[in-house]
Amino acid sequence: MSGDSKEQPNIFYTRVAPLLTAECLLQEGKVKSLYRMANEPEKVYIHFHDKVTAGNGRRVDFPADKGKVCCLISALLFEMLGSRGIRTHYLDTEGLDTLLCKKLEIVPVEVIVRNITAGSIVRQTTLEEGNRLSPPLVEYFLKDDAKDDPLLTLDRVKLMGIDPEPMRQAALKVNNHFQILFAQMDIDLVDFKLEFGYDSHGNLCLGDELSPDNMRLWKKGTKERFDKDLFRKEEGDIVEAYTYILEQLRKFI
Ligand code: C5P
Repeated sequence: MSGDSKEQPNIFYTRVAPLLTAECLLQEGKVKSLYRMANEPEKVYIHFHDKVTAGNGRRVDFPADKGKVCCLISALLFEMLGSRGIRTHYLDTEGLDTLLCKKLEIVPVEVIVRNITAGSIVRQTTLEEGNRLSPPLVEYFLKDDAKDDPLLTLDRVKLMGIDPEPMRQAALKVNNHFQILFAQMDIDLVDFKLEFGYDSHGNLCLGDELSPDNMRLWKKGTKERFDKDLFRKEEGDIVEAYTYILEQLRKFI
């Protein structure tokens, strides 16, 4: 992959390695791999690598413990949302860097909720960074790396045969729960990305991961970051920042 500055570690190594065999590998993403569970066609393992990418994979690094921290944050947040009645794919945690999840038919749309302007909405509009959006803005992007995940209009989502409304409702509920949680930690939830899919019973479920790789988290009232922008902007150590978020979540969930 272009931009790789270090040799890629053996991504198949894991504490639950016997379960994650090459023959069970279904899909290798940028920082996670998906494995089928032997004899359980409706379940998958999601293995988090010690890897971070930016610019659609153009910059890469392999920070130690990053997979474990993102996995554990995701597990805590999925458990919290599940306990509040939001349907998710999360079933269990295997080892420290692998989630056991329901297999989903993924909707090829990334749903982004914004509470404060940052990132692409600042780059692509006249808005400045740091403006509060009330009500929050929900946006849809195509989930397709080869096309660089373009912003979709509502009409385009509907033309793709996808009803955005159930995802929008679920995303706003997630936003309410996350905002309450992060406020207790003195963190402003700036924005985040969600992915959805359908389980084998046709239920819409929240999928993918829930970690600072997919959200912007600023220390309350400031722009001090605890998220992947530290890597994108080469401003600091993401594992240290993510570990702080994990420790805080453990206090409040
Ligand atoms: O890049 P943008 O500002 O649109 O990102 C909004 C939020 O969605 C950020 O928290 C970013 O980390 C997340 N995101 C993501 N995966 C993408 C695009 C954005 O997790 N493919």
